[in-house]
Amino acid sequence: MFIGVHVWLLPLQGYDLVLKGGHVIDPAHGIDRVMDVGVAGTRIARVAESILPGGAKTVVEARGLYVTPGLVDLHMHVYRNARQSTLFPDDVALIAGTTTVVDAGTSGWRTFEDFKATIIDKSQTRVLAFLNIVGQGMKDGALGESNERDMDPAATAAKIQQYPNVIVGVKTAHYRNKGFTALKRAVEAGRLSRTPVLVDNSILTGSGRTTREKLLDVMRPGDLHTHMYNDEQLELVDRASRKLTEAVIEARKRGVLFDLGHGGGSFLWPVAAQAMRQGFPPDTIGTDLHPGSVLMMRVNVPNCISKLMSLGMTLPDAIRRVTVNPAQAIHRFPEIGTLEEGRTADIAVFALETGAFAFADSRYRKNLGTRCATARLSMIAMGCRFPPGMRRRPAPRRVSDFGIGFGP
Ligand SMILES: [Zn+2]
Repeated sequence: MFIGVHVWLLPLQGYDLVLKGGHVIDPAHGIDRVMDVGVAGTRIARVAESILPGGAKTVVEARGLYVTPGLVDLHMHVYRNARQSTLFPDDVALIAGTTTVVDAGTSGWRTFEDFKATIIDKSQTRVLAFLNIVGQGMKDGALGESNERDMDPAATAAKIQQYPNVIVGVKTAHYRNKGFTALKRAVEAGRLSRTPVLVDNSILTGSGRTTREKLLDVMRPGDLHTHMYNDEQLELVDRASRKLTEAVIEARKRGVLFDLGHGGGSFLWPVAAQAMRQGFPPDTIGTDLHPGSVLMMRVNVPNCISKLMSLGMTLPDAIRRVTVNPAQAIHRFPEIGTLEEGRTADIAVFALETGAFAFADSRYRKNLGTRCATARLSMIAMGCRFPPGMRRRPAPRRVSDFGIGFGP
């Protein structure tokens, strides 16, 4: 019988919530227009020109706002026990429209269980993880992430296979030795577990690696290099000619992916502007959020979207790079990253303000933009979070009426 698929998707007793009149952007399905979104239980029940909300428990007026799939931040650090400098995901992600965060290797196979118990299982935000190729993860120490004796591809792959719903790949970062041992071990773990590798690699570590070509050659299609607009990581733009380097063009053609990874030191206006002008946008817009970047630069996903829009990216194009693209990169699409009927009701609602906005890069250089995206509502399977200061008021309800903790 084939009828089951669609029948169970449809609400049997009306909607729990209808978002009315918002401008829906769901790049995975080419949707970019005013529509209504109906939620039943924990699922998207309907996306249509007009949904009669009769019987809906809650109707939210979203006119003038943008409604998108809950955002996916591919690069964040949220495992506290490994480092002093991490964030609790619910404090920073949900208030920014981000319903899924992927921890970028703060834990390794030896520390993942603690990460899961102390953070992942306690967060409302969906927390996934790249596992560091170093067993101890990013735990500070003399050798840190250069500790080759603690880089065990088999143990890393085994841990990934033990938690396939939570661990999405392998991370290598901050490697200070000569050669490519860390990257090769990470790729081996990725091969064993059939998952992608996220690479964060500095050219200023005295490693003896003189070209990016070698590094990119080791990376497989589907692996990601983060911090793409930091010219101390990738020579994306040649310093002399200011042209995109052949190596990154070829790597992208081969299927290597590039993540923004803004962070506290990796978004530089000159590199980003040159790259965007030459048609080299990020595949995914990860924030690399940690206390340094969140406090110094007020970085979050909407902030990164606004910055890329100031360099010519359209809003639907930016939304693609924080929904379907990262979901595909971590092999989680269409489970997340779309408003497709029947999928989990992860939803973000934004305002796009116009005016003159100064956006700082990682070295505090400012660039003016004319549009600024700010989140108004985040919803994970009917558990809503709102920016602080918003209060619940009686019906009729608008997005701004809700307080934290709204649910079915
Ligand atoms: Zn990072």
